[in-house]
Amino acid sequence: MAETGKAAIWLGYGKPFEIREYPVPDPEPGAAVIKVALANVCGSDLHYWKGEQDYEKMGRPLPLNTGHEHMGTIHKLGAGVTTDSTGQSLREGDRVVYRYFNPCGRCKACLKRNFMSCPIRQANFLVSCEQWPHFQGGYGQYFYLRPNHAIFKLPDEITDEMAAGVNCAFTQVYAGLEIGELRAGDTVVIQGAGGLGVYACAVAKEMGAAKVIVIDGVDERLELASQFGADEFVDLREYSTPAARIERVKALADNWGGEIVMELVGNPNVVDEGLRMTAPEGTYLEIGNINVGWEAKFDPSWIIFGNRRIQGVAHYEAEHLKGALDLMVRTRTKYPYHKILSHKFPLDQINDAFTQQVEGHITRAAIVPN
Ligand SMILES: [Zn+2]
Ligand SMILES: [Zn+2]
Repeated sequence: MAETGKAAIWLGYGKPFEIREYPVPDPEPGAAVIKVALANVCGSDLHYWKGEQDYEKMGRPLPLNTGHEHMGTIHKLGAGVTTDSTGQSLREGDRVVYRYFNPCGRCKACLKRNFMSCPIRQANFLVSCEQWPHFQGGYGQYFYLRPNHAIFKLPDEITDEMAAGVNCAFTQVYAGLEIGELRAGDTVVIQGAGGLGVYACAVAKEMGAAKVIVIDGVDERLELASQFGADEFVDLREYSTPAARIERVKALADNWGGEIVMELVGNPNVVDEGLRMTAPEGTYLEIGNINVGWEAKFDPSWIIFGNRRIQGVAHYEAEHLKGALDLMVRTRTKYPYHKILSHKFPLDQINDAFTQQVEGHITRAAIVPN
């Protein structure tokens, strides 16, 4: 009988995850099957859980095997896959991180080498998990890594707990700050100290930011941001209005504003104040507001007269994943990377993990499927 594995499947808003068993796919040439070690509950997973993200509007069929922030070991390699993306040999059992989406290689974006903008890069979510290869996300015992993937072997110094956030949150902010062209000496303002915000503090400092200012209202998150290198804090409880926060950020940023301001909250109501914190010629990096159909209100003249930019950033290039991993290796003892993931849950308790993370009891839950 064919080998089978368990996966948590998402049936739509208001319904709990259900555990189903599927046959483990045989990798086609160029593909690989990963045995998932840890799969985090990312802030973007919470959007569909809370009903803020509508999969139907996004053209995704249900049920889906979700989860995108994960890592694991090689279970089986498809024909022709003998090395990782840097040429290091790969074997069964090797610990790896990988890009969780797949640019097609044959569209206008891919032709221009803008792989992160490939419109069908999330093709693994275009069919339901009831169809082959079933294991399309991280919330399952296996993950099917399609051909033309980007994969990197993990060095021993990086534990599973440290690596779990690399392929989404950590690389996402790394890519954002590279695309936003952070320069040494810049002030970076971070709206929201969730997983992405906390990682962004370390990445910004390592890329040469002179000052990192973090805005949040939860003690544990502000404390973690401080351990990840943040210099200044604007506490939402103390500065309770946008006007007060804008004034405070300006005062902390030479009465000028941040050369880079990162939206990592995922709420359109923070966009206007974030833009007002952005220095002339500065860049507002829009990363968090992934909910299709939500609207933000802001005054466009503020962008024009200050020669400011709004830069959207979704996903990343393979080189960003490698760069972020290397940065983590270099700074592994400087920042407490293992602390981002705060609680672990077995696969069959995935609904508890989501409930507790939404209620704010935990920073980032990780599902342990095996
Ligand atoms: Zn994510
Ligand atoms: Zn493409």
